[in-house]
Amino acid sequence: MSSRARKALDDELQKVEFETSEEVDVVPTFDSMGIREDLLRGIYAYGFEKPSAIQQRAIKQIIKGRDVIAQAQSGTGKTATFSISTLQVLDTSVRETQALILCPTRELAQQVQKVILALGDYMNVQAHVCIGGTNVGEDIRKLDFGQHVVVGTPGRTFDMIRRRNLRTRNIKLLILDEADEMLNRGFKEQIYDVYRYLPPATQVCLVSATLPHEILEMTHKFMSDPIRILVKRDELTLEGIKQFFVAVEREEWKFDTLCDLYDTLTITQAVIFCSTKRKVDWLAEKMREANFTVSAMHGDMPQKERNEIMREFRSGQTRVLISTDVWARGLDVPQVSLIINYDLPNNRELYIHRIGRSGRYGRKGVAINFVRNDDIRILRDIEQYYSTQIDEMPMNVADLI
Ligand code: ADP
Repeated sequence: MSSRARKALDDELQKVEFETSEEVDVVPTFDSMGIREDLLRGIYAYGFEKPSAIQQRAIKQIIKGRDVIAQAQSGTGKTATFSISTLQVLDTSVRETQALILCPTRELAQQVQKVILALGDYMNVQAHVCIGGTNVGEDIRKLDFGQHVVVGTPGRTFDMIRRRNLRTRNIKLLILDEADEMLNRGFKEQIYDVYRYLPPATQVCLVSATLPHEILEMTHKFMSDPIRILVKRDELTLEGIKQFFVAVEREEWKFDTLCDLYDTLTITQAVIFCSTKRKVDWLAEKMREANFTVSAMHGDMPQKERNEIMREFRSGQTRVLISTDVWARGLDVPQVSLIINYDLPNNRELYIHRIGRSGRYGRKGVAINFVRNDDIRILRDIEQYYSTQIDEMPMNVADLI
């Protein structure tokens, strides 16, 4: 990207207004954040020039040791926010786990670990990813060796803690990425299991693009005097992501609509969301029978296969990926510019996360929702809830990508 284009993106990303629970300094450069030299070098080497809006506000607070609840739109640098902060608070002369980052999916944990290793390239940092579907013996070996940071999914991470291979005594920072999902029914108990093993003074940070009321209300139970840096609901959708719908009327007509859009899908890269794993398999099969090239991924596939699909999609070898909500949160493939909701998501939060797989860091994106007659109500609800606009898909949609 040219530096002119980058500056335009940076400027666009600065426009958001935050609601904070107290006055929060806005630090305009990485240089003035008091970041250690070797980390600063890693940040610039990674290609960052200027901190994004959330980075300008949240990094300083986390480094200061405050509990922080940080919300910002998808693709605006939240991962880098907590990664930089985590690296800053490590004492790399002590090879013990000092920070624990929990994520809802294995792929997201892997991605976060890579960002930490890249930003910490000049710091001699040990960061381990602790996820299911991998060799337990290998986990134990790596943890016994000593890891400054562990990025994991709750199940395997708790397993390693319980077996005492992941020693928690030196942990001073817990990050819950996609915090609203982590504190939701499916994960809450597991998070609590982990939390009970951490030192009482552990600093806690929650990060997500969506933080519904009921989640914010429970934070007093495990956070102390947290600073909230939040985005108003009507500012959560990104200007750069244009949203459309196609009135397919009935389920049977979705498939032909998708085939008609195939050329548009392959302009850059696209993710198609279905509501179940079975539907992902079915749609991928049907697309292939019709001679379209697609890849597919969901949580019932062996981890090796998931890794391979991710590798091919990240490298651009494959362009169209059909998936479930395992792909809805956090994953960052900057070339993705088109999202199709073949099925609408089951809740308002997932809508924001799904469409946020496109339009990363100020880039352009397009989201297209397939709506049956009985879906129109749901779409209108989403539109109203976020005060956004979802128009009928125009003929020239390809020009917007
Ligand atoms: P989020 O976690 O908010 O969805 P990420 O941290 O994954 O966003 O960042 C989205 C993309 O923007 C990534 O490709 C990341 O490398 C890039 N990015 C993040 N911060 C900056 C920055 N300060 N300057 C340039 N690019 C950035």
